[in-house]
Amino acid sequence: MSSLGQKILRLNCLFLLLLLVAHCTPDDPITCTTGNSNCTITNAYGTFPDRSICRAGGAVYPTTEEELKAIVATATRSGLKMKVATRSSHSIPKLVCPGGEDGLLISTERLNKVLNIDTAAMTMTVQSGVTLRDLISEAAEAKLALPYTPYWWGLTIGGLLGTGSHGSTLWGKGSSVHDYITELTIVSPGTGADGFVKVRSLKESDEELKAVKVSLGVLGVISQVTFKLEPLFKRSITYSTKNDSNLGDEVVSFGREHEFADIIWYPTQQMAVYRIDDRVSSNTSGNGLYNFIPFRPTSSSLLGLMRTIEYKQESLNDAYGKCLSAMFVTYILAEKAYGLTNNGSLFTGYPVIGSQHRVQASGTCLDSLPDVGTCAWDPNVNGLFFHQSTFSIALPSVKNFIEDVQNLVKLQPEALCGTELYNGILMRYVTASNAYLGKQEDAIDFDITYYRSKDPLTPRLYEDILEEIEQLAMFKYGALPHWGKNRNIAFEGVLSKYKNGQEFLKVKNTYDPLGFFSSDWTDHVLGLKDGLSIVKEGCALEGLCRCTEDAHCAPSKDYYCRPGKVYSDARVCTRLNSDGNLLKEIATEDVDEKLSVQLA
Ligand SMILES: Cc1cc2nc3c(=O)[nH]c(=O)nc-3n(C[C@H](O)[C@H](O)[C@H](O)COP(=O)(O)OP(=O)(O)OC[C@H]3O[C@@H](n4cnc5c(N)ncnc54)[C@H](O)[C@@H]3O)c2cc1C
Repeated sequence: MSSLGQKILRLNCLFLLLLLVAHCTPDDPITCTTGNSNCTITNAYGTFPDRSICRAGGAVYPTTEEELKAIVATATRSGLKMKVATRSSHSIPKLVCPGGEDGLLISTERLNKVLNIDTAAMTMTVQSGVTLRDLISEAAEAKLALPYTPYWWGLTIGGLLGTGSHGSTLWGKGSSVHDYITELTIVSPGTGADGFVKVRSLKESDEELKAVKVSLGVLGVISQVTFKLEPLFKRSITYSTKNDSNLGDEVVSFGREHEFADIIWYPTQQMAVYRIDDRVSSNTSGNGLYNFIPFRPTSSSLLGLMRTIEYKQESLNDAYGKCLSAMFVTYILAEKAYGLTNNGSLFTGYPVIGSQHRVQASGTCLDSLPDVGTCAWDPNVNGLFFHQSTFSIALPSVKNFIEDVQNLVKLQPEALCGTELYNGILMRYVTASNAYLGKQEDAIDFDITYYRSKDPLTPRLYEDILEEIEQLAMFKYGALPHWGKNRNIAFEGVLSKYKNGQEFLKVKNTYDPLGFFSSDWTDHVLGLKDGLSIVKEGCALEGLCRCTEDAHCAPSKDYYCRPGKVYSDARVCTRLNSDGNLLKEIATEDVDEKLSVQLA
């Protein structure tokens, strides 16, 4: 290895060490200047896709359903727009912004109690502000478990239901938390005759539950939810790395074979990491733990350094440098078993066997002290800043989509190193649901994270390839966007992809006919108002529009609007030279010189 390579290795080892010892605390996403009035709200990343700031007239923090009822009644009587906010607002799109600028934020931060656990019926009732972490740990105390959940435990129950969040499985009742609800109570605006508030308690058999269980927050405030659980069980987990040449052929059968399967795909490295993850008998020995490394506390200085390196690689068009960094990150994560340990502290080999509550989700960066560190996306430090495109493609189309991406990579081999730096494309199995805004078919959810510039008019390396993948998914393969992730373009025409989209709107019209809980954003995505695409200079770079002219890209930086390379209907921002030809992103012979500049 060159001395430069060793330097990078040492630096990265230092990063990893820092990563393991630091801590974090996320802030309340609501900030008010006078007591609880004159507020702004943002998401956990500190920036919405369009970089706007959302304003609200005030914020309230009910602790009981009675208080919640009084709040909704008073706001409805006064004609105030409302929106439910959560303790950390983890969704990327502007779901938490109330309509207008003087609406009311109803925070569920203090609606955070477990109300009942019925061990005989194996059910658990929680207020909607309870975090996934608390639900998991309290259920485990009672020797119960929710089988399939998101991997990040910082989410609230109300929030994860609002966006249809899920884990990974093709088995049982499926991958989505909302498909385990047995009862739910929701507080919505009422007429004068109702006292301006209406409380509905729904059971599994109620048709309206199909609308309420994935609602984008537009039907009112969910106050409490009851879930059907299972006896606590153990899992056996092994990560197995393979060449990705047969990925398209194997992906469906792999998901059917293993209950908690997922796959991390590194298209540039032509590699796929299969998570072989199954239920085992409770008396199998093992006390494994999953503490996913990217969700561990990270020191702010490390995050700053990582961002600076990535920024410099981007500014120098140093795709090769990004590929080196990505290979290193991939190697370390695999060596560290992605955060799995056999006994809570050491990884000694596969399989890792552990109780469901210790391996289903993690997020220790939430526990930490602000002076020592933070979560990787914390906007209070100059750390990682990224976009996410997350969509599900129905199983019959997955093979073709994978092949299209592989063909893109053949044309531009380094193009996806930027994504591999963020641990590749996470592929999870998601299942058809009877929720009107839930998954329509069994599918694979692709989760792609990539660099975002602090300057909205600066393109990222291989801008065109990531845009093409997003458009391939959304428009060629009719993918469904994750409601809590994604950029505006992913939501174009989305309601028409749901066979019961109109049924959802009918329930919305019954629960909140005057749209107190609606905003411009929810009206845009539900197709009730134009304006989802924000067409302006550079809009395609941020996924605010699909480019139709060069000005939507960055012509002054040589990025022009052109058709896609494998999907000719795509319109993407492509880097060209002055002759109008494709520009080669890097000259490999310059790499050492460029990396020296970065490390200087
Ligand atoms: C690090 C990280 C990891 C993630 N991992 C996964 C994953 O593994 N799987 C997955 O599917 N998703 C995942 N997500 C996405 C996440 O599940 C969603 O964005 C989720 O909605 C965020 O929950 P929240 O509690 O922060 O809700 P918010 O983002 O604050 O709110 C989401 C929506 O729900 C509404 N809402 C919240 N509470 C209520 C309520 N009580 N009543 C009515 N409406 C309500 C809000 O108004 C808003 O419209 C992840 C996100 C992050 C940041």
